[in-house]
Amino acid sequence: MRIKNLNELIETYKDFPEKGIDFKDVLGIMHEPEVFKELILKMSSSQIIKNAEAIIAIDARGFIFGSAISLQASKPMVVARKPGKLPGEICEKNYSLEYGESSLSIQKKAIQKYNSFAIVDDLLATGGTVNCVSKILQSKNKEVTGLLVVVELIKLEGRLKLDFPIESYINF
Ligand code: AMP
Repeated sequence: MRIKNLNELIETYKDFPEKGIDFKDVLGIMHEPEVFKELILKMSSSQIIKNAEAIIAIDARGFIFGSAISLQASKPMVVARKPGKLPGEICEKNYSLEYGESSLSIQKKAIQKYNSFAIVDDLLATGGTVNCVSKILQSKNKEVTGLLVVVELIKLEGRLKLDFPIESYINF
């Protein structure tokens, strides 16, 4: 499952956005379209995507990967957004993350039509963010087929919080 060169495109920023956090920046992947393409092809062919009626991408870097997978796999995409960004009726839930607290919202109308979702984000750390999205979906009786992330921070054991299949492509 390892993609050549992917590792070296991810830069680490020490003490960002707070002291003690090693921030893993995935934006370098987009500087190398051939590597980005290979990654998107791999993610799109995952059983987690195939088993889902739709993709749910997480604010904000998850949108980059989610929308490319949506096009490649011909699956609809909806978004989970940070507070105050989505119009209309929303489902919202608070969560804590590696640094601080936040909440995520999903438009009720956007998820109505679909029964199963593959969650897409750039990185899995403590698992709080993905857990929040899955809890919102499950509260609406939606199935989560799994999670696709580019990077997984293994030591933070985020996957222990999650009870569905997880695919990651780089581990730190
Ligand atoms: P968590 O809820 O702890 O799994 O955090 C995952 C979310 O926060 C993802 O949407 C990431 O974009 C962001 N994030 C958390 N920790 C980091 C990190 N060390 N480097 C880059 N992004 C991070």
